[in-house]
Amino acid sequence: MLHERLQHLKKQKNATIIAHYYQRPEIQDVADFIGDSLQMAQFAASCDTEIIVVAGVLFMAETTKILNPTRKVLLPDMNAGCSLAESCTETDLLAFKKKNPDHIVVSYVNCSAAIKTLSDYVCTSSNAEKVIRSLPSDQPILFLPDRNLGHYLTQKTKRELTLWDGSCLVHETFSIDKLLELNSKYPKSKFIAHPESEPHILKIASYIGSTKGMLDFVLSDACETFIVATETGILHQMQQLAPHKTFIPAPVQDENSCSCAECPYMKLNTIEKLYDCLLNENPSIELPENTMQRALVPLKRMLENYN
Ligand code: 13P
Ligand code: SF4
Repeated sequence: MLHERLQHLKKQKNATIIAHYYQRPEIQDVADFIGDSLQMAQFAASCDTEIIVVAGVLFMAETTKILNPTRKVLLPDMNAGCSLAESCTETDLLAFKKKNPDHIVVSYVNCSAAIKTLSDYVCTSSNAEKVIRSLPSDQPILFLPDRNLGHYLTQKTKRELTLWDGSCLVHETFSIDKLLELNSKYPKSKFIAHPESEPHILKIASYIGSTKGMLDFVLSDACETFIVATETGILHQMQQLAPHKTFIPAPVQDENSCSCAECPYMKLNTIEKLYDCLLNENPSIELPENTMQRALVPLKRMLENYN
């Protein structure tokens, strides 16, 4: 069985598998550590095995390599990108900085290593609010690349932020009409959402937070039924940790889809690709030394000050 062969290979190669909550259930089940973006970065920074396999997307694997450069970092599928990371190019950011030299740049971790080298601060959905609140109130800030998370932060912190026009293709698919319909079908349910969702969706949420925040909320809240607006991979952990509760994926607009929100990038990773990449130690993340050193500055700042 692949699961057992993978466990054996992991030991033989002195490797660790780190997975995001959005990974396929069978990948979560073989992972040594599962977390949201912040937890993955924290764990990766101190991981001491020779090989780290990142079951996630490219920016997560790059972050791992930058934080732990002496390890071999593998990503099962190099095409596992992110619509947010792709929305912000180095050329466009350089042009913005040239036009707006007074702005400091706060980047959501969902961006390339190159963008991190041009950033003053890096944050995740877990600590973005803390980062913004820690900056002087008269300091102009560019928040990139997620306009929805940025909009949520302006509301929470009452700060004016200049927002990059990027979005997550998964969190933009939820249907408010279908959600309200579902809510009335389950009147005792609570609706929870990730802050990458659009403002009109967040408006009706009982709880807004990172994937780890959402997981903690459903475990500690007395409610028995939750409608969950984020990538459906998280439901696997929710169901495992609270088997007596009911978790319903928030409905999406597209009639032709599976009617739930799946990230096509996260789902590129399969258990077979995970096995092959560990066996062949490829694809592996390689970044220019200079990029790693410069991108490390805001990443380290985040891990040291905004945990
Ligand atoms: P978090 O891991 O911070 O919850 O972000 C979700 C996400 O979209 C990762 O790609
Ligand atoms: Fe990017 Fe959205 Fe996929 Fe996360 S869920 S990797 S933000 S496209």
